Amino acid sequence: MLVIMDARASDEDIQRVENRIHELGYKSHPIPGASRLAIGVTGNRGIEDRIYLEGLPGVQQVIPVTKPYKLASREIKPENSLVTVGDVVFGNGGVVMIAGPCAVENRDQTLRIADLMVSLGAHMLRGGAYKPRTSPYTFQGLGEPGLEILAEARERTGLPVVTEVVDPGLAPLVAQYADMLQIGTRNMQNFELLKEVGKLGKPVLMKRGMSATLDETLMSAEYLMSNGTHDVVVCERGVRTFASHARNTLDVSVIPALKQVSHLPIIVDPSHASGNRTSVIPLALAGVGAGADGLLVDVHDDPAHALVDGPQALLPEDFEQLMTLLENVTSALGRRFERRQVAIG
Ligand code: PEP
Ligand code: MN
Repeated sequence: MLVIMDARASDEDIQRVENRIHELGYKSHPIPGASRLAIGVTGNRGIEDRIYLEGLPGVQQVIPVTKPYKLASREIKPENSLVTVGDVVFGNGGVVMIAGPCAVENRDQTLRIADLMVSLGAHMLRGGAYKPRTSPYTFQGLGEPGLEILAEARERTGLPVVTEVVDPGLAPLVAQYADMLQIGTRNMQNFELLKEVGKLGKPVLMKRGMSATLDETLMSAEYLMSNGTHDVVVCERGVRTFASHARNTLDVSVIPALKQVSHLPIIVDPSHASGNRTSVIPLALAGVGAGADGLLVDVHDDPAHALVDGPQALLPEDFEQLMTLLENVTSALGRRFERRQVAIG
């Protein structure tokens, strides 16, 4: 349920309501709004207990939240959430470009690509130090040395870094280095991982499970949010279908559907969706056309020798072409898109 406070409610009124929620054995989640505060309540089964809250001073109304996800729902927070990572903002109508190699392969490769990304105007750098691979015989990532390389790339370029966490025990370590923590598609329903990552309170990029429904996706976001982080960006990266012409099928239809029921930003990963370089630019444009708040794109300057996902990596010149197309497409759509203006230090 959701407790709507009166615009004139005092701090004392708010504290009293939160205390009562805790006495009832539930969790309170203050949600500041434009003119008044709302307090989300989680842990309750029905709304019978609303009677213990309705009469308190400063309470305007107590309303039920019908969706199984609460904190991720527009019922609790009607306005779009802004998720801030360093100086980058998701959800404000702009298009955020996150780009970089699929994996941190070595220092030279990552710094080279990071320099290219910042010079071409990307807003954030991606790169996996821990790689969840289908085969145990393929490159599994550099681990902590890979995180150190990412931190050096951030120092050098100023680009905030997103990187994947695959193990709940390693989440605090990854959080020491990363600006945003990525949950991979294979881990979207690894609930212990979601709980640990949520507790860290850092921004999270949560990929949709490759066969997850919209409700399941938002329930996973709810795990993160109910454990402590409110800065969740969802990423559509393709789902499993009967289609065999692509690695996955990019479900652009989930973008407006998610926006209807949730206030969270959603971005699109056309690289892992297609698995094929030639499809990446068209799918990226489709995602932005459908309302995505950003893109996550694999780029490599030597994809033939990439240790992971070379066939889907854009070359730097392809990436430049995508950035130019985005400038035109976003201007036609009336959306903001500016390349990051930062000199290499
Ligand atoms: C990735 O972005 O590096 C990745 C492994 O993606 P996904 O989890 O979508 O397969
Ligand atoms: Mn990959």
